[in-house]
Amino acid sequence: MSQQSRKSITAELIAEHAHFFSCPICTRSMLFENNTTLVCTEGHSYDLAKKGYIHLLSQSVDTKYDKALFQSRQRIAESGFFTPLIEAIADLVESARLSENIAIFDAGCGEGSHLAQIQKYVTGNTIGFGADISKEGIQLAASNPSKTIWLVADLAKTPLANQKFPFILNVLSPSNYSEFDRLLTDDGQLIKVIPNSAYLQELRKIFYGDKENFDNEKTMSRFQEKFDLIKTQEVKYQVRLEQPLLNDLVKMTPLSWSANEAKRKQVSDTSAMDITVDMTILVGKRRKR
Ligand SMILES: [Zn+2]
Repeated sequence: MSQQSRKSITAELIAEHAHFFSCPICTRSMLFENNTTLVCTEGHSYDLAKKGYIHLLSQSVDTKYDKALFQSRQRIAESGFFTPLIEAIADLVESARLSENIAIFDAGCGEGSHLAQIQKYVTGNTIGFGADISKEGIQLAASNPSKTIWLVADLAKTPLANQKFPFILNVLSPSNYSEFDRLLTDDGQLIKVIPNSAYLQELRKIFYGDKENFDNEKTMSRFQEKFDLIKTQEVKYQVRLEQPLLNDLVKMTPLSWSANEAKRKQVSDTSAMDITVDMTILVGKRRKR
């Protein structure tokens, strides 16, 4: 798909969904002018980028995640590594949706692979919004043809209007519960994915040995402090990964790993490995307003 056509597709999607936006500076509503610019009633304005995403940060933020990391993650996702997880999330959305028309917001979407793949499974008229603070991630996401508006945005000041989203996804990414609460519809669901102790255990054993203490209790209890937990679902499976995907998996995972050259070499000298994926999907409803 050419950049031009992605830009015009995004322009059409924003024109149709301009009421979903709110200004990240003053929180006022926005209009989409000249098919290129979101403008709030105070005059703060945000241009649609040539590559077909919209940048709603007042200044660029340097993140620790570079383009190479997102490209690795995209190749891993395209290989089908996350497919059982994607299907499980899509099933949860399908079974809970109350209408033909729904909006899904992926908070911290990175290069957008999860949201784009979930949209292949869900039915009806579904519009996606994917936001990440990393411009590198969103630029890559925008090359994807899914029916999604991709935003570079600060998730602590999400440039989206109150109570528009029946579904928020938050996959292996930090949460901002007060923003999720603000954005969800009354019946809306927060679908958060967290890693379990066996997640990538084969790699973790190489990089950390037996020293590592894995604990997701804090994440669980924080979730339950903020939201009513209505369902948990464990997703556990193994994937045989061959090179060069095995190296991509190392590149897309925590930074402390990348520092350890000797252990990276140990992995890159391995031609194939069985890798465990072990996660829990937490489904929450917002407390009564
Ligand atoms: Zn404004």
